[in-house]
Amino acid sequence: REEMNIIQGALELRTKTVEVVMTKVEDCFMLRNDAILDFNTMSSIMESGYTRIPVYENERSNIVDILYVKDLAFVDPDDCTPLSTITRFYSHPVHFVFSDTKLDAVLEEFKKGKSHLAIVQKVNSEGEGDPFYEVMGLVTLEDVIEEIIKSEILDE
Ligand code: ADP
Repeated sequence: REEMNIIQGALELRTKTVEVVMTKVEDCFMLRNDAILDFNTMSSIMESGYTRIPVYENERSNIVDILYVKDLAFVDPDDCTPLSTITRFYSHPVHFVFSDTKLDAVLEEFKKGKSHLAIVQKVNSEGEGDPFYEVMGLVTLEDVIEEIIKSEILDE
């Protein structure tokens, strides 16, 4: 039965979209790009427990960088280093996917190995102004795998 479930989950990757498995933007732990890496900020990063943290400029829908918690290995909170110094140094690429992308396609992207996290966006053409990209959330390899095995992966 376990195997049947996994096969079923794998087959559904072709029809399910990123939007149904992503973590919604309002639930994302993110940092402003003008944050200072003082004791408070570093504590909240550690407490969040996440390994990758989107960094935004001005508004949460404008993701400009990804901070990896391992980038902080040489950062001393007493130095009050600006976050932008670190993100500029490591300069990890930010990967985007559209919210209607099917899970098998994102899985292929993740398998290529660049990053196992992508920012989910859609084109918002409601309203009068020009259409614009709207950030909906983020998706990781774990979200896709959970969809295959159909159960929650408990974090360490
Ligand atoms: P981590 O290694 O940080 O635990 P995973 O890739 O294992 O991240 O993902 C675990 C879950 O946490 C997934 O549901 C993913 O969408 C979510 N997640 C990952 N990073 C963040 C973040 N910065 N803020 C909120 N949720 C996140």
